[in-house]
Amino acid sequence: MKSLADRWRDCRPLVAGLHFDSAACSRQSDAAIEAALAHTRHEAEVGGYVAAEAAEPVIEAGRAAVAVLTGHRAADVVFTTGSEDALNRLLGSWPGRRTLACLPGEFGPNLTVMAANDFQVQLLPVGEDGRLLVDRAAAVLDAELPALVHLTALASHRGTAQPLGEMAQLCRDRGIPLVVDAAQALGHLDCNVGADVVYSSSRKWLAGPRGVGVLAVAPALADRLQHRLGAPEWLGAVAPLRAFELGEANIAARVGFAVAVGEHLAQGPASIRARLAEVGRLTRSALDGVAGWRVVEPYDEPTAITTLVPPVGVVPAAVRARLIAEYNTVTTAAEVARAPLELRGPVLRCSPHVDAGGADLEAFAGALEAVTRAA
Ligand SMILES: *Cc1c(COP(=O)(O)O)cnc(C)c1O
Repeated sequence: MKSLADRWRDCRPLVAGLHFDSAACSRQSDAAIEAALAHTRHEAEVGGYVAAEAAEPVIEAGRAAVAVLTGHRAADVVFTTGSEDALNRLLGSWPGRRTLACLPGEFGPNLTVMAANDFQVQLLPVGEDGRLLVDRAAAVLDAELPALVHLTALASHRGTAQPLGEMAQLCRDRGIPLVVDAAQALGHLDCNVGADVVYSSSRKWLAGPRGVGVLAVAPALADRLQHRLGAPEWLGAVAPLRAFELGEANIAARVGFAVAVGEHLAQGPASIRARLAEVGRLTRSALDGVAGWRVVEPYDEPTAITTLVPPVGVVPAAVRARLIAEYNTVTTAAEVARAPLELRGPVLRCSPHVDAGGADLEAFAGALEAVTRAA
C-alpha cells in the first residue's frame, strides 16, 4: 500500500517548488477543488439558492466531520468565514461578565478581538517555552475565576502543543467554559477533549479552501449566547447557533471544505497526527544550526510547525521573499505582532505537511543556507 505521504501528494496538483507553509494555507486536493468548481457551475445552471439547497447534504456532512474532530454534534457546528470571525461572533454574543484568561503567547489579532468586545484579559502562567504550567494555572484561576478560558491549543508563531486535555479538565472542575482556538490545532492535534467551544479555519492543516471557518459550541452555552442582531425571524425555529451562520456565503468554499474534512477522516486523523509529528522531528533535525538559524521547539514536539530564530543581522521577511523568488519555496516570516506579548523578534516558520520527505528537507536546508549567506 502507498504511504500516507504518497497518497496525500498524489491526490493534489503538482507543487511548484517546496510548500513549507501549511500553517498559513495548505495545498488543496483535486477532489476539494473540483467539488467547489462543480458547485459554482451548478449555481450558474440552476441558480445560487437552488444549488445551495442541493448542496445541503454535502455541507451537513462537513459539519458532521468537523463534529467528529471536536467532539460536538453536527447540529452544534456552524460555518464562519474563518477563525477570527468565529471568535468575534462568539465573544460579541457573550452573556454576562466579560473576563477571560489566556496565554501570554495569544495570537495578536485575537487580543484585538477580545479588546474590541470589551473583554478583560488575565494571563495564565507559562514556562520559558511558552507552554502552559497547568498546576500554577489552577492556582491563578482559583484566585480569580474568569468567565471563560481561551486557549490557543497550537500557536501561529511557535510549534508548542499546549496541554489541551489537562486544561479542559481544569475548566470542567471549575465549571467555566473552555474556548479553544484550533486554527492550527484542528487536523493536527487531538481536539476532541470536551471543550465547550472549538473554532478553526478551513485552509490550514485541513487543507480546505480559503475564506471558510467553523465554530462548534456545546448546546448549553449556545442557548445562553445573545446574538447581537437578534436571531432573524426568517430562521424560524432552528437551533440558536444556526443564527450565527451567514446566509450569504461562498457556498462553493463550504462544499470544498466539507470534501477536505471528509478526506482527512478517510486518511485517518491519528495517522495524520503521527505523521505530522514525525515531519516536525525531520524538519528540526534538518534545519537546526543551518547558516546560524536556531530551532525554537524541542526536537520531539508533536507538531509540524518549526520556527527558526535568525542569525544576527538576518531579517526573516527578506529571507522568506528570496526563498520564494529564487527557490519557489514558501514559508512564513512571523512578525512580533502575531504574539505581541511573547515573541521577542521575528522568526521564520516552516510548516511542511505530511508529504514532506528527507529530500525536500535537504533541498530546503540548502536553499536556506544559500539565501542566508547572500543576505
Ligand atoms: C490563522 C490563525 C487565526 C486566524 O484565522 P483566520 O481564519 O485567518 O481568521 C487565529 N488563531 C491562530 C492561532 C491562527 O494561526
